[in-house]
Amino acid sequence: MELGKNHIGFTHTATGGKTFTTFNPKLNEANDITFTEATSEEIDAAVALAAEAFDAYKNTSSKERAQFLNAIADEILALDDTLIQMYCQETGLPEGRAKGERGRTVFQLQSFANLVSEGSWVDATIDVANPDRTPFPKLDIRRLDIPLGPVVVFGASNFPLAYSTAGGDTASALAAGCPVIVKSHPMHAGTGSLVAEAIIKAAKKTGMPDGVFSNLNSSGIEVGQQLVSDPKVKAVGFTGSIRGGRALLDLAAQRPEPIPVFAEMGSINPVVMLHEELEKNTAYWAEAYAQSISLAAGQFCTQPGLILSLKGSVFTNFTNLLVDEIKKIDANCMLHPAIFEGFQSNKNTSQSQSGLEILTNDNSSETPNFAGSSLARIDGDAFLKNRILHQEVFGPYTLLVECESLAQMKTIITNLEGQLTASLIATEAEAKANFEIIEALQNRVGRLAFNGVPTGVEVCNSMVHGGPYPASTDSRFSAVGVHAIKRWVRPFSFQNFPDSLLPEALKEQNPLDIKQTRI
Ligand code: NAP
Repeated sequence: MELGKNHIGFTHTATGGKTFTTFNPKLNEANDITFTEATSEEIDAAVALAAEAFDAYKNTSSKERAQFLNAIADEILALDDTLIQMYCQETGLPEGRAKGERGRTVFQLQSFANLVSEGSWVDATIDVANPDRTPFPKLDIRRLDIPLGPVVVFGASNFPLAYSTAGGDTASALAAGCPVIVKSHPMHAGTGSLVAEAIIKAAKKTGMPDGVFSNLNSSGIEVGQQLVSDPKVKAVGFTGSIRGGRALLDLAAQRPEPIPVFAEMGSINPVVMLHEELEKNTAYWAEAYAQSISLAAGQFCTQPGLILSLKGSVFTNFTNLLVDEIKKIDANCMLHPAIFEGFQSNKNTSQSQSGLEILTNDNSSETPNFAGSSLARIDGDAFLKNRILHQEVFGPYTLLVECESLAQMKTIITNLEGQLTASLIATEAEAKANFEIIEALQNRVGRLAFNGVPTGVEVCNSMVHGGPYPASTDSRFSAVGVHAIKRWVRPFSFQNFPDSLLPEALKEQNPLDIKQTRI
C-alpha cells in the first residue's frame, strides 16, 4: 500500500514538492506518514481520466454498479483494525465511534447497491403515443434520470468515513453512474488513503474503468479550487463549514458553465422547550441535553447550539440542572489543534457579546486539544439584534435564550438562518396549542424532532439531512438516505425512439421489471 501518494485512477503518483502529515490530537504530535499534495498536472490527469471513464461507467448495468458498491463495502471491512487505528490516531475519536462510523459507511454503500440493483430509482415515465389525437397526434415520449458526469467530493473533518472518501456523497454519485474525484481531507489523509485503496481494489475486482475513482491529497484550498474550476467536472458534493461551501458555490457559479454544488454545511440546530413538558421532566431533559451538547466534544453538524424557552422559573430550573449536568462531563479531545483553536476563538467571540451571561465555561483541561463544555444565557431581544450569536460555534457550546413571549420566540425562529434540524420539547397538547411554532420551525429547517435531541442522524430513506441555506446550498435535496442519488442526475427524454434503441429501463416489455409510470 502506498499511503502518502495520490490515487489517479489505478495509478499511485507523488510528483509534487509540497508534503504534509496528519496529527494525533490525543498525543499532540504529528503522525508518521508523509502525504504529497497533488500537483496541477496530477489534478488535470485525474479529471481527464474521470471524463474518459464516464463513457464506459455510465453504461455499466445496474447489477454491475451494485456489485462495485458492495465490493467497496467488503474491502473497507477487510481493512479491519488498520483502518480503525488510522482513524483514531488522526482524529482523537474513540474506537467505538470509529467502528460505528464504519458500520454506517458500509450500510450506506449497501443501501445504494440495493437501490440501483432494483432499478426503479431512474423514475422511468412513459407517455404512450396517440396517433389519433386531434388536432395533433401525440408522440411517444419517455423520460428517465441519467448521470451528470464526473463529480468532485469534499468531506468534513468530523466524519472521516461516513461523510468522506467513501461516504454518502461518493456512494450516491457512484450509484448514479458518475465517476468521483475526492479532494482528500488533510486532517484524515491516511484514513482517506486507506479507503481510496479499498475503492480502487473493488473497482479492479468488479471490472470498472480506470478513472472511475481518484483521491487527491491536499493541505490547502488550491487543489479543491482547481477541481471545481475544471470544465470536465459536472457537479460538486461538499460537507464542511459555511465559509468553505459558500466559496465553492461562488466559484462554481462563476465558471463559463456553472455547475451544481451540493454543500451540507454548519448549523446551530435550535431547540424549542415549552414549559409543560419541561416542568414535568426537567431532570430528564437536562441530562439528555448535556449529553447531546457535549457528545464527541460537540463536533457534530447537528449539535444543539441554541435553546429557546420562555423566561420564568421552569426554564431557570432546567438551566440550573443543565449546568450541573454539564459540569459532570469531562473535557474531550477535539479533532485537531486548528479545530480546538477555532472553537476557543469562536466561543470567546460569542461570550464577549453584550448582554450575554456565561453560565459555565470549562477551560480547565490542561491536556492540549481537550475542550470542556460551556453554556451561556441571553435574553430574546439581545439575541434577535445580534447576528454574531446566530453563527455556529463548532464544538461543545450552547446558548440559552430567554424569550419574553411566544410571539418573540416566533420572531426569533423566523429570523434564524436556515438550519439542518430543530427540536421541539413539548407535550402533545401544548404542541397542538402552539402549532405556529411548529410551522415557523418548519420554514427554517430540514428536520424537526419531537421530544428528542438533534444529534444522531438515522440513515434511512425518509431522513432529510439538509435544509434551507446556509444549512445546505439546495434545500430540495438530502445528503443522507437513498434520495441523495437525485443530486447527481438530470432528467432526459427520448422522443419517438424505436424500442430497440431505448435504454432497458424504458423499453416497452420492461425487461428490467422496474416501476414504469405509464401515462
Ligand atoms: P471545512 O474547513 O469547510 O473543510 C471541509 C473541506 O473543504 C476540506 O477539505 C477543506 O480543505 C475544503 N475547503 C474549505 N474551504 C475551502 C475553499 N475556500 N476552497 C476549497 N476548499 C475548501 O470544514 P471542516 O472543519 O472539515 O468540518 C467542520 C464543519 O463541517 C462544521 O462547520 C460542521 O458543522 C460541518 N459539517 C456539516 C455536516 C453536514 O452534513 N451538514 C456534516 C459534518 C460536518 P482544507 O482543509 O485543505 O482547507
